[in-house]
Amino acid sequence: MEEKLEEIVEPLLEWYQENKRILPWRENKNPYCIWISEIMLQQTRIEAVKRYYARFMKELPNIQSLANIPEERLLKLWEGLGYYNRARNLQKAAKIIEQNYKGEMPNTYAELITLAGIGEYTAGAIASIAYNERIPAVDGNVLRVISRVTASDKDVILPETKKVVTEQLKTLMTKQEDNFQAGDFNEALMELGELICLPNGEPICQECPLQRICIAYQKGLTQELPIRVKKLKRKEEDRTVFLLVSQEGKIAIKKRNEKGVLSGMYELPNSKGKVKNLKELEEILKKWNLKGTNIENIGEYQHIFTHITWKMIAYNVAVEKENEEFTWVTKKQLEKAYALPTAFKKVILK
Ligand code: SF4
Repeated sequence: MEEKLEEIVEPLLEWYQENKRILPWRENKNPYCIWISEIMLQQTRIEAVKRYYARFMKELPNIQSLANIPEERLLKLWEGLGYYNRARNLQKAAKIIEQNYKGEMPNTYAELITLAGIGEYTAGAIASIAYNERIPAVDGNVLRVISRVTASDKDVILPETKKVVTEQLKTLMTKQEDNFQAGDFNEALMELGELICLPNGEPICQECPLQRICIAYQKGLTQELPIRVKKLKRKEEDRTVFLLVSQEGKIAIKKRNEKGVLSGMYELPNSKGKVKNLKELEEILKKWNLKGTNIENIGEYQHIFTHITWKMIAYNVAVEKENEEFTWVTKKQLEKAYALPTAFKKVILK
């Protein structure tokens, strides 16, 4: 298998030089830019990340600004990307870099991986791209390409498979000549997985620089590989969400608990379960010290988190007067200053 992998290096790097996409974080090899983009790319596709990345970099162009920004503003800048703990971890790590590394990003894999939110993949990406350290960065794209090229029958969901592929790539990278560009090699594998060796449906093998080497292609196994065992079904939770609007045209929002899904973010008032009758709705409003003058069902929808799916029913409620339990804000204030998760934005946009 090692010889098989040895063969991919040259055609892969040649293909990358000719086909790599121009991306804002590839303009230079700045470790801060690579770090931010890699964290964003963990959850969102490249095209969408470009927009979020530009917004983030405009306000937080360096480690110092990230370390010092108030958390509420940081979460606002992260809005739309989800997984808000990743934004908090960025800031935690930035503060450590300020304190322990004089504000300069550490330049080895071993140091990078000790920082909050930086796992094996991200540490590998930063160390190889910014500092040319010969260390792999194995994500789903890389696992898929390697599984197909070597026709591996190992389940790519298992951590053990990732470990083995990481070791194989590390050995391969260590053996290369002095002028070997570790970052280009890692990026080339990822790029091939994103553009050519596609996850669902047909990979575009006729355009692939590894076609001659790839065992999955030669044996007609590209549809079967990589092996993935079915994920467990997500838990489902019913919720009733209220878009409460006061006579002044303000909307009620509330800060969520510091624990659990969407911790510390703002939310629209909501309760567990799907409430469908008027009497129960009025009782919930009464508990909040509110009286609805007009209650309108504005539909049902769902939002998928990593481990849970919320099935929601939403009501638009005009209320007589504002209570003290909630924060009442105009739509403009909400857009500008409060991080509202996408799950609730769907209600407002309805
Ligand atoms: Fe993927 Fe096809 Fe290339 Fe093999 S030949 S690596 S299956 S795109």
